[in-house]
Amino acid sequence: MSTLRFKVVEEAFKRKPVPASAPGKVTSEYYGKYVFNREQMSKYLSKSTMDTVCEAIDEGTILDRDIADHVAAGMKMWAMEMGATHYTHWFQPLTDGTAEKHDSFIEYINEPGSAVIEEFSGKLLAQQESDASSFPNGGIRNTFEARGYTAWDPSSPAFIVDDTLCIPTVFISYTGESLDYKAPLLKALNAVDRAATDVCRYFDRNVKKVYSYLGWEQEYFLVDEDLCVARPDLLLTGRTLMGHESAKNQQLEDHYFGSIPPRVAEYMRDLEFEAYKYGIPLKTRHNEVAPNQFELAPIFGETNLSVDQNIFVMSLMDRIARKHHFRVILHEKPFAGINGSGKHNNWSLGTNTGIGLFTPGKTPETNLQFITFLVNTLVAVHSHNALLKASIMTAQNAHRLGANEAPPAIISVFLGTQLTAVLEKLENSTSEEAIVVDAKKRMKLGIAHIPEVLLDNTDRNRTSPFAFTGNRFEFRAVGSSANCASAMIALNTAMASQLIQFKKDVDTKTEAGASKEKAIFDTIKAYIKASKAICFDGNGYGDEWKTEAVKRGLDCETSVPLIYDAYLAPETIKMFEKTTVLSEKELHARNEVKWEMYTKKIQIEARVLGDLSMNHIIPVATRYQSFLLDNVYKIKQVYPAEKAEKLSAMDAAIIEDIAVHIGEIKTSVDAMVEARKRANRIDNEREKAIAYHDTVYPYFDKIRYHVDKLELTIDNEMWTLPKYRELLFIR
Ligand code: ADP
Ligand code: MG
Repeated sequence: MSTLRFKVVEEAFKRKPVPASAPGKVTSEYYGKYVFNREQMSKYLSKSTMDTVCEAIDEGTILDRDIADHVAAGMKMWAMEMGATHYTHWFQPLTDGTAEKHDSFIEYINEPGSAVIEEFSGKLLAQQESDASSFPNGGIRNTFEARGYTAWDPSSPAFIVDDTLCIPTVFISYTGESLDYKAPLLKALNAVDRAATDVCRYFDRNVKKVYSYLGWEQEYFLVDEDLCVARPDLLLTGRTLMGHESAKNQQLEDHYFGSIPPRVAEYMRDLEFEAYKYGIPLKTRHNEVAPNQFELAPIFGETNLSVDQNIFVMSLMDRIARKHHFRVILHEKPFAGINGSGKHNNWSLGTNTGIGLFTPGKTPETNLQFITFLVNTLVAVHSHNALLKASIMTAQNAHRLGANEAPPAIISVFLGTQLTAVLEKLENSTSEEAIVVDAKKRMKLGIAHIPEVLLDNTDRNRTSPFAFTGNRFEFRAVGSSANCASAMIALNTAMASQLIQFKKDVDTKTEAGASKEKAIFDTIKAYIKASKAICFDGNGYGDEWKTEAVKRGLDCETSVPLIYDAYLAPETIKMFEKTTVLSEKELHARNEVKWEMYTKKIQIEARVLGDLSMNHIIPVATRYQSFLLDNVYKIKQVYPAEKAEKLSAMDAAIIEDIAVHIGEIKTSVDAMVEARKRANRIDNEREKAIAYHDTVYPYFDKIRYHVDKLELTIDNEMWTLPKYRELLFIR
């Protein structure tokens, strides 16, 4: 009899909410208390050091060693007062999550064996050597230069976790190549700043800097920890590889925005308390569409900081969940048949003068600026739609995209009826009609003025992977477990590259004698025509869209390893090199890592699926079969032959049914193992990933189909794995 399943179900059922503990009366009292933010800096740094650091943060200037020494001293004092004994460079390698290696502050005062003192110099703050060979590097690192470096990123504040001062850093190889997400992200943000500032200066000479903003919405599932532990697939791969749909799941739509279950509510409160201590402005929390699925979102912020905060929140979610006897599931598709989890990336650009570049303006000038940035985004997304898809694609997210619940595996932009009409009007106007300069040399836009209601009236097309939502774009195809940096690198670089081109196009026209307004207008008009194929307001889930998208020349590839090829397309390499965000060598290396990660994920899933099938499912199935056989045998002992035949007919049918499923499972598992062996012999990472996708992965559904049929047939008392209804409805 299956004892573990019933034991964990009982345990989970009995659980009471664990009360959250508020760190103070009001949030502002403890908000940011664990972060070496400007407020703390002003207490621990001299005015001149503070000014220099702020300039480095705001303007991206480089800090010299002297300043680093001063900052390190102040940081150490603050950290020690907060009880820290260790420090670490905190970085984001190309795996999931973050990496850190803790060092204590202590050093001998004199010779070895003498007394110790706490030390933390500018050198230790600014740069650390670390063994790059333990992190994926795609072959960039030769064995003779195994060293990698982590280098301080002053634009993201240091923070304290338990007893350790964490310093956000980039991670680069000995020869200077990026081995992480942060280094290229900072370069992409710098590129978009420069390119966008140049364009803004057509409209306002006072603009000195353009910021990229990100507001992420994190979806996740919570599963009771005991139930989770009884599901090896969930524990090891983050998703269920088998499990028949629960009779009730999300059909009644009774979970979305419903009242938050008490255990979960306490979890959310604790999570928020903790996030606030780290200055992470969590703003919203609610139930999502699927049972046991939830979402949280902060107020948006500067992209680099927001990326760091998301990565950190994901680790907090995991820690806090354990206190509440939950496991947080960040996988994009943990359960078949119900919604998966995404992480919408709300993205916008804004000037140092406080203007949102995707916010429709109040004056003709600002409206022309708004249209300029909007249309350039369309061109950027159109030109690089395959790359943007590659930037969000993983083995996990592939389950979500293209399924009937999430954006399709085709990138398109949703603008809504009003904006579409505005662009159409522009496209069909001449510059003389559109731009009128009055007697006082003030510019007027003769085009349909963009109604202010736009902000409140953005149609909610949930099926679009990239939607304009009033003052920002919402990149919805991003997966819940992803590092947002991947999408933000691609998007901001594509935008930077496009804005550089725009400036060229406009300047060519003005040099030929056109007025600035006419040059801008004519360029925009041509862009609207050229990027039409990317705009799609219809139903992104429909099959007609797939046919239509092919006709429009959009990228419709669905195989993950092949989708990654977009990173190595000539236009992509040119784009990244022109903006100096990533070199061709780095792009190749990073793709090696992506293919390798894909292979490993499928490999692990294949192993877990094979193991579970052979040592959980088949043994239970044969036990039940033997129980039925026993019954048939006994019936035949008790009743006359003809009657016994009738009475045991149903048992006999089930016995045969089980035999068929067992046979199919066994054959498929064997074939899958063979396919894996063949794939493992391939050296080339791309080819290997393709082999895993084409020859190993197809067995997953086959095996699952038969396992799920058995789950429906076999005595519930005997079934060992917690069922969907238990995983999804016990909270
Ligand atoms: P939704 O209706 O999609 O749930 P919300 O109003 O909850 O939208 O906002 C989602 C996220 O978008 C939040 O993180 C919010 O701060 C962010 N956001 C709002 N305006 C902007 C903007 N201009 N740029 C970037 N992010 C923004
Ligand atoms: Mg949203």
